[in-house]
Amino acid sequence: MSAILGLKLDVDTLRGYREGVPALLDLFDRLDIRSTMFFSMGPDNSGKAIRRVFRKGFLSKMRRTSAVSTYGLKTMLYGTLLPAPHIVESDPSILRLAAERGHECAVHAWDHVEWQDQLDMLESRTVRDTLHRAFGLFERVAGFPARSCAAPAWKVTEASLEVQDELGLDYCSDSRGREPFFPVWGGRRFSTLQIPSTLPTLDEILGLEGQSAEEANRMLLDGLHEGINVHTFHAEMEGIGQIRLFESFLRECMNRGVRFDTLGDIAKTLPRESLSPCVLEPGEIPGRAGAVALQGKEWQS
Ligand SMILES: [Zn+2]
Repeated sequence: MSAILGLKLDVDTLRGYREGVPALLDLFDRLDIRSTMFFSMGPDNSGKAIRRVFRKGFLSKMRRTSAVSTYGLKTMLYGTLLPAPHIVESDPSILRLAAERGHECAVHAWDHVEWQDQLDMLESRTVRDTLHRAFGLFERVAGFPARSCAAPAWKVTEASLEVQDELGLDYCSDSRGREPFFPVWGGRRFSTLQIPSTLPTLDEILGLEGQSAEEANRMLLDGLHEGINVHTFHAEMEGIGQIRLFESFLRECMNRGVRFDTLGDIAKTLPRESLSPCVLEPGEIPGRAGAVALQGKEWQS
């Protein structure tokens, strides 16, 4: 099978950044793999995410995925009982090390929790400011500008897509879908290429009733197809508690001849002229609470 797999890391929290990223860098060095890493740049307000407890299905999912052991109790209080620490500024050398070791590095968010829980309510000016703040800090820390971003929780709005176009990015990875496409949101066509995640995340699989960790890897491997695949993983999960499981997934991919590529390299080699515009719209996916941006059908203008 000639499958290409883009490994897309989301760094959501301070703990994921400080503990998960260094562990993943060592793992990737050992396996000689390059990934794409998207960093939450600003405050870790994870404690505020507790608001989500009141949403349907969250509590049972918390139990099944043991959120406290994944995230740590301290993380679950940031921005509430404990002040929100700043993620990248707490130790800029980690982001720089990731870039030095050959991983593609880019922006996930300024404030992950704000984006995930409030994007729909934010004015376009605030969306613009928050993305500019994240890109500004990224460039100051990395010494080069970020060329892409990936929206927290696969949440987009017209404003967020508009700012991405203004930034002139190489691509964005904000959505869930089948293959790279140009997004049409609310009837409006945008110019920034979308490279969607094609596989479920580990927390989604474990969030399904009766799925064990071993079965999760089998499900992921079964989901690989010819051509471009993208798998989103998390510094808080695959970088810490589930790192052994993740390593066995990667090794099995290698056994099957899967080729790893960064999303940036995938974007470079795509024949852009022949890519179809597709509808991008909110929709539900199994194992995840709340709507995500889904690749819909091909768009006929
Ligand atoms: Zn995230």
